[in-house]
Amino acid sequence: MVTANAAARLIQHYVDNFRALPWRSPPGVPAPDPYTVWLSEVMLQQTTVATVKPRFERFMARWPTVEALAAAPQEEVLSEWAGLGYYARARNLVACAREVAARGGFPRSAALLRALPGIGAYTSAAIAAIAFGEKRAAVDTNVRRVIARLKGLERPEPAEIESAVLGLMAAQHGGDVVQALMDLGATICRPKQPRCGTCPLQPDCAAFASGDPEAFPARSGRRVRPHRFGTAWWIERDRHVWLVRRPAKGLLGGMAALPGTDWTEAPEPAPTPLGTIRHVFTHFTLDLAIEAREEQTGDGWWQPLNLLNDAGLPTLYRKAAGLALKRRRALAA
Ligand code: SF4
Repeated sequence: MVTANAAARLIQHYVDNFRALPWRSPPGVPAPDPYTVWLSEVMLQQTTVATVKPRFERFMARWPTVEALAAAPQEEVLSEWAGLGYYARARNLVACAREVAARGGFPRSAALLRALPGIGAYTSAAIAAIAFGEKRAAVDTNVRRVIARLKGLERPEPAEIESAVLGLMAAQHGGDVVQALMDLGATICRPKQPRCGTCPLQPDCAAFASGDPEAFPARSGRRVRPHRFGTAWWIERDRHVWLVRRPAKGLLGGMAALPGTDWTEAPEPAPTPLGTIRHVFTHFTLDLAIEAREEQTGDGWWQPLNLLNDAGLPTLYRKAAGLALKRRRALAA
């Protein structure tokens, strides 16, 4: 049983150590705009706070409201998203903004938020709790770890975590509890070497009492990430490079790209590779060979080399272009 005192100490610690982030309102002031909560939560999925901060500010300067984002051409949003990964999210972002703008604002409950494009269980709970104060358990990996330790659960069931979070919310604002747990997991109850000496939950913490807090929750076995191989073509003419747009559906859908082969499970050596880059996606690792070619291929456009940074290339192709340019300079020297 999580005590009311534990919840009160958690919130006091959150208030005293509030992490000012551009998408947050300090505790005690009116809840933040659901647009900023939604945008930040989507950006923060699998990306660090430090990376998201400047990108969030740029995004907000360009599209300060959900209506502004709804009116933006999808290709411009995808370009602005370049480097944040998971481009399906950027496409859903536009679809969701258009739906929200059409209905005159974000719905105020997790159940209705979840029906919007790209908003899953976690994001709907986070927006409902943080922007609207609903008592909803938004459980990310940080929150799961903190609760598993607090309750001493080695293999917690999602329902056990949710009910403990709701227990902490009983006498507190839902959004404050969610953000307090997120902060605690990021700064104190870290995966390794948790700082139990400064933790407000320590008096109630079963993992601390066990003497080995890092043992909770138990680590799951590591998955072996599959490997894929492909070749990208570097086609250069008069200080321009030939770029194409990837098909709308699928990985990096709709993004600017170097043309090239499909990615397969068998290595296919390029005849004259400028080099190979390795890029780790969530579900596989890709070795992409870069091959110089003469003839342009498929529908595309000539991008001036001095404006390559404006092409909206995702990280994979930025790395590939960087390598090709470096090798060419080395060959020319
Ligand atoms: Fe995590 Fe230690 Fe706090 Fe328990 S006492 S919640 S293990 S930091």
